[in-house]
Amino acid sequence: MSQGAPVQTLVVEDDEAIRQMLRTTLEAEGHRVHTARSLREGLTLAGNRRLDLFIVDLGLPDGDGLQLIHALRKWTSRPVLVLSARTDETQKVQALDAGADDYVTKPFGVAELHARVRVALRHAARPARLASTLLRCGAVSIDLGTKRVQRGAEELKLTATQWRLLEVLARHAGRVVTADRLLAEVWGPSHAEQRHYLRIYVRQLRQKLEQDPARPRYLLNDTGIGYRLMTDEEVGGAPS
Ligand code: CA
Repeated sequence: MSQGAPVQTLVVEDDEAIRQMLRTTLEAEGHRVHTARSLREGLTLAGNRRLDLFIVDLGLPDGDGLQLIHALRKWTSRPVLVLSARTDETQKVQALDAGADDYVTKPFGVAELHARVRVALRHAARPARLASTLLRCGAVSIDLGTKRVQRGAEELKLTATQWRLLEVLARHAGRVVTADRLLAEVWGPSHAEQRHYLRIYVRQLRQKLEQDPARPRYLLNDTGIGYRLMTDEEVGGAPS
């Protein structure tokens, strides 16, 4: 995507009100919006145009948005955002496992939508090897290069497991990482059922990272789905 060129976005959504709302708000942000009302239309448009971003409803009249994500991931790594109903935790996890980058739960506000879109496009625009290795979460800085975590000038000591968990989250900063994926990447595939490990280590990391661990600002839980690490880039700078 060249500087200044509009982001070519495909919206696949059968609900007309939501489709129009997405068109209006994304066009206001400079996107060129293509819309499809069904899985079939979505697949056709996706095959015929050069697109930068996909926004996909999971419940489509002629099939499951999951099928579209599976199809897209065979030939493109461009970001996919999923639109999903509040009760669809399992579907959201399936969509993320299928290669979606993130999701927005209906009903959603435009601020939340644009925040998700910005993070997804930013990650897509930056190949992993060029990604910034220094992340800031308020007073805490996380250096992925030197594997150091500091609060101001003071170095925070993390155990190897705490660091691995933080590192996986930091590499996906701003985006949700499913609990199963965190367990597999940090503890290995044989620990996929050990959700309580995750809760214990998340609590430990919050003690180190958060000003008020009981009301986290940076290490957030997406209930039923996983966790996401927000950095100042996502939460918009200075602590409130
Ligand atoms: Ca729908």
